[in-house]
Amino acid sequence: MARIHNFSAGPCTLPLSVLEGAGAELVDYQGNGMSIMEMSHRSAPYEAVQDRCLALAAELFGVPDDFETLILQGGATLQFSMAPMNLMVEGRPAGYVDSGEWASRALADAAYYGDAYAAWSGQEDGYRSMPQAGDLAMRDGTRYLHVTSNETIGGIRMTRWPDVGIPLVGDMSSDYLSRRIPWDLFDLVYGGAQKNLGPAGATLIFIRRDLLDSTNADIGAYLRYSSHASKASMYNTPPVFAVYMMGKVLEWMKAEGGIDEMERRAVARSALVYAAIDAADGFFRSPVAVDDRSHMNVVFRLSSSELEAEFVRQATQSGLSGLKGHRSVGGIRASLYNAMTLDGVGTLVDFMAAFASEHE
Ligand SMILES: *Cc1c(COP(=O)(O)O)cnc(C)c1O
Repeated sequence: MARIHNFSAGPCTLPLSVLEGAGAELVDYQGNGMSIMEMSHRSAPYEAVQDRCLALAAELFGVPDDFETLILQGGATLQFSMAPMNLMVEGRPAGYVDSGEWASRALADAAYYGDAYAAWSGQEDGYRSMPQAGDLAMRDGTRYLHVTSNETIGGIRMTRWPDVGIPLVGDMSSDYLSRRIPWDLFDLVYGGAQKNLGPAGATLIFIRRDLLDSTNADIGAYLRYSSHASKASMYNTPPVFAVYMMGKVLEWMKAEGGIDEMERRAVARSALVYAAIDAADGFFRSPVAVDDRSHMNVVFRLSSSELEAEFVRQATQSGLSGLKGHRSVGGIRASLYNAMTLDGVGTLVDFMAAFASEHE
């Protein structure tokens, strides 16, 4: 077997033990004579899988009792519409921290449902940093503030959480379960599974019951958080295989030491790559503010796009996959999600040093 090192931004690398475990029971799930993906979602074996996944998610994230845990489909992108559809009310604007590509997509979608505005924008500065405390310009009567904890494309993370005294909504897709969430500040948190939690197909959502009780009721059933909460995320057929896989990834994370251990590893992995960038004496360049450097998506540039293409080409030959930056910004991006091993990162930084000395 030849597994390569996969630095893709998503869908991303998964723990080998999880893939092997799923492989071993793929055609006959625990003596039931069929695959978990062929089974009724109302069957006892599947219900046990989903209940365990939801419980583990809440446990590992340290979610307080006054939150509901939901699993939906549609990715974080559906949440860009669903959050405003459920939360926006006539006459009250919704504020967005426009910290990058993903935040601005969330803001653009919210504008279809009401008065949405950027309480701060990093656009003119090339999305190189997150706002400082006191930078936000909030309008009176703002219904909620939306933030993006980690900008997957720009490679910056939020460390200075806004404390605004109104509902705080977070897109945490790309650093889910790699850091603690300040639950005293947040009321609604969402993210697609395919970065840290499993394969694509499931979206994990936490919503405070207070906020859930005040969501809009005049929208279609699937689009209401309350439909899913009242049916334990079985309002319609859930993405059974994605949930099953997420459950396995969460079991793996728990066995490995949980969220604090995931964070410790994320810091260690990203520090190695940032050190390799900084050590290369200008050959590699990080475009983002040092304090806001992402632990998940390390973005860097070389002196020309030709050299970047050569870097990606040679890296691919060396078994390092997925390093091409997002098509909208170019450059190089190494995504270092929870299942990326230190060995993989070591191979990358060795490659970087060798490439730099060859091309300097
Ligand atoms: C990947 C990503 C999204 C989009 O997620 P989908 O699940 O593909 O809809 C949204 N926000 C962030 C921060 C992301 O990284």
